[in-house]
Amino acid sequence: MRPTLMLHGGAGSMKSMDDPRERMYRAALREAAVAGAAILDGGGSAVDAVVTVNVVMEDSGVFNAGLGSGLTADGRIEMDAAVMDGTEQDYGAVAAVEGVANPVVLARHVLDDTPHCMLVGRGAEAFGASISVPLRPDFPSAPRIAEWERRKALMSESTGSLADQLAALGGVLGDASSDKDSDGPVGQADTVGAVAMDDRGRLASALTTGGIWMKMPGRVGDSPMIGAGLWSVDGQGSACATGTGETILRTLLCREVVDQMRAGKGATEACAAAIGLLESHFGSGMAGVIAVGPDGEPGYAFHTRGMGRSLWMGGMAEPACGIWPGEDWDRAVPG
Ligand code: ASP
Repeated sequence: MRPTLMLHGGAGSMKSMDDPRERMYRAALREAAVAGAAILDGGGSAVDAVVTVNVVMEDSGVFNAGLGSGLTADGRIEMDAAVMDGTEQDYGAVAAVEGVANPVVLARHVLDDTPHCMLVGRGAEAFGASISVPLRPDFPSAPRIAEWERRKALMSESTGSLADQLAALGGVLGDASSDKDSDGPVGQADTVGAVAMDDRGRLASALTTGGIWMKMPGRVGDSPMIGAGLWSVDGQGSACATGTGETILRTLLCREVVDQMRAGKGATEACAAAIGLLESHFGSGMAGVIAVGPDGEPGYAFHTRGMGRSLWMGGMAEPACGIWPGEDWDRAVPG
């Protein structure tokens, strides 16, 4: 079968996306897609491809994951990551882990090497230490500390409580039509994730995040949660989300996408229907999702101003990348 890889670099208002940042962002999307495509092109598995994509994005420092993770309200990094294997309907995840270089690798070890599905906090870190998963003593990076200080100052100027600011996250992320500033203290969705189908028709998904900026310590969003942040079952479909976790969790967004495909919708239509359902409950500007159908048909939808994304299918010399709605990047895909 013709392999397919689709990845995202987060959905949001992209207010801070000036030209140099957009170039860097597109280059990082492309680099991750090239790494995943090389695995699928060489006959590798969908699970290996989606994990590799996420590792490249964690290491890039460009996204809110791994090196580039956003910070909690008290200035620490707490990361979440997950991997789902659609063949075995198996899943491994970690939540609220600190100091681990590649949380997505730790999540894969939970999948492969433990009888459990999810480990959190100290237990996850102790498991990582027991199998010598690399640490990053340079967390958080100097630019992220500077960003935290800027946001902290905005928070102390703001009249609303953290709960009020989280409740207003839709406005913070910025919907497709509004010109609202995303550079409030809370929020910013630059989580990364990927879905793939390999040449044997096996489906997988994986994602990794620092979570929303200035979250309460201990907060876990949708990203490591099966059915919400990701969902993959061979023969049915695979999906991976980004955006305000509190709305994605309450919609079980990725399970909804695959359910829509099982009901006969194409991948793009299924993504749009699931985002429409989320929007009907929580309003616009919240989320985006990518998917591959049971036969590798790619799709995506978002109702934020932008969502970084990249697509590679067997036969393409180069992955296609997009950020904004209506980019004509799908034309790069050979029929
Ligand atoms: N979904 C992530 C979370 O709520 C944020 C993101 O997608 O960037 O933690």
